[in-house]
Amino acid sequence: MCGIIGYVGKKQAFPILLTGLKRLEYRGYDSYGFSIFDEKGGIFLNKKVGKISEAEKDFLGMDIQGTVGQAHTRWATTGKVTEANAHPHFDCAKEIFVVHNGIIENYGELKNKLINEGHQFSSETDTEVLAHLIEKFLKEKNKKGEKRKLEEAVKEALKLVKGTYGLLVMSKSEPEKIVAARLSSPLLIGVNNGEYIVASDPIAIAPFASNIVYLNDYEIAVITPGNLSLEKERAPEKMEYESEEAEKGSYEHFMLKEIMEEPAAIESAIKGRLISQDGEVKLGGLDSIAGRIKDIQNLILVACGTANYAARTGKYMFEEYAGISAETDLASEFRYRKPILSKNTAAIFISQSGETADTLAALREMKRKGVLTIGVTNAIGSSQSRETDAGVYIRSGSEIAVASTKAFIGQLTALALMSVYFGRKREMAMVMGKRIVDELSVLPDLAQKVLKNSSHIEQIAKKYVLAGEGKGFRNFWFIGRKYNYPVAMEGALKLKECSYLHAEGIAGGELKHGSLALIDEQFPTVAICPSDSVYEKMVSNIEEVRARKGRILAIATEGNEEIKKLAEDVIYIPKTLEMLTPILAAIPLHLLAYYMATALGRDVDRPRNLAKSVTVE
Ligand code: GLU
Repeated sequence: MCGIIGYVGKKQAFPILLTGLKRLEYRGYDSYGFSIFDEKGGIFLNKKVGKISEAEKDFLGMDIQGTVGQAHTRWATTGKVTEANAHPHFDCAKEIFVVHNGIIENYGELKNKLINEGHQFSSETDTEVLAHLIEKFLKEKNKKGEKRKLEEAVKEALKLVKGTYGLLVMSKSEPEKIVAARLSSPLLIGVNNGEYIVASDPIAIAPFASNIVYLNDYEIAVITPGNLSLEKERAPEKMEYESEEAEKGSYEHFMLKEIMEEPAAIESAIKGRLISQDGEVKLGGLDSIAGRIKDIQNLILVACGTANYAARTGKYMFEEYAGISAETDLASEFRYRKPILSKNTAAIFISQSGETADTLAALREMKRKGVLTIGVTNAIGSSQSRETDAGVYIRSGSEIAVASTKAFIGQLTALALMSVYFGRKREMAMVMGKRIVDELSVLPDLAQKVLKNSSHIEQIAKKYVLAGEGKGFRNFWFIGRKYNYPVAMEGALKLKECSYLHAEGIAGGELKHGSLALIDEQFPTVAICPSDSVYEKMVSNIEEVRARKGRILAIATEGNEEIKKLAEDVIYIPKTLEMLTPILAAIPLHLLAYYMATALGRDVDRPRNLAKSVTVE
């Protein structure tokens, strides 16, 4: 959430910052800003409301000089979306410039103190207190009576701060320097022949450097031309990131490209991991804890948003196939609970970015309590992957659209693999392991078959949002049972975030306990009802809706002719094992959300009020 990029080197900083900022835009896009020092002591300071990708042309023909600079694309947490609130923020003398990702929780108290000391604020943000605190400590001498360096002032300022930060600071007093600091917000430094690109996401560094250093929590780095000074010296590592994935190619939107990549996401998650003859799964990231798996008595799956729905599907998989009692919780809730833990509890944390602040906070709480922690993430080298005891990469490739699609598919696939891995170390029979493994091996082809239906799904989507008494429907229930109950919630969430229509995912059996009251001809229900162990029960729920003149759009298994009599529209998915149906059922729901949102003219890749990689709690 929010994008930060800084450059120190011999080249002109602006084009590098601009390229990086555009690549970071998916992480926040309500406003943006730059600060670049030139060689004559001047500064280019530019802040605007809007999206950098749409403002790029405004910079054409401008002579922006300077080899040290930083930029930011914001997702407002504190203070409205205005030019004054855009980063960089500065001190009273406009000499110190700060870009920040995160939240300073005690900013109110700090701000009052600084105002009483005579500081003048020009924004409503929490971030601005940092610029004034640094100003204060730069003016004061250190304990030895010497003038403080910028990094020393930053260190003093951060001692007073409560909250989270990924931070870059520049000062006119030391114009060749950027000071970087982090606490619970990612910062990475790309290293390339004496030049440095520091950013909140490898996507911004990838075009300019292939070696990186991950900054640690509480660490402060000092970057000057030709020199990177870290508190704990270490060599840069090779960055595992494929930069060409950040391109849309021939697709109109990243979201559509990423949905079309869902079969590839399954393929990539299973590649080299299935051992059919033994009914086994190979997951190298779990090898270090392999001996402990048979002792696990209860699992807690913790995640947020879409990943939470993957977790809830995973619960059914672990219970049914690994024989482990499993519960799930939202990271933001779990962190404040008092869960009952035993030495045989293990916790699984699921986050696409591996930087989700709520999930990381819950993870750290579990580590503090000595619980075995396992991560499921897409991002190699992310905080989550470095802090968990063991983990599985979903290998879905970069996901740029804010609403997660292929990563959800990757997470479900990884959880299916893990339930076999866990199951086979416990009671699962070889034949059962083999059945799941063999079915997983053909799943990419089955997923591809679902995508072949995309123009049919597009027609249905248009009909539902554009038709219906001439204006389209604005409210939807999504219903499902067992494995497909979380998928119903995922379908509803995807529709909400991309189209801004009202949708809710409900367990089929719950409908009659209240929500049915809303059903009429204008309130359609999307029923996820593959031919599985709860199909008959789903049919009863569909009948309940029909009896109230509700319209049904069914997601059903190929060959089910009966459903055509019950539903106004049917989208078919191929037959597979019950535990894998969520993976196939999610694909048409993602397409449905995409086509409904685009039919309404929404900016699907960058929905209003949202951003990718939620690094604030
Ligand atoms: N808390 C800061 C603000 O509201 C930073 C937000 C961000 O991470 O973009 O400006």
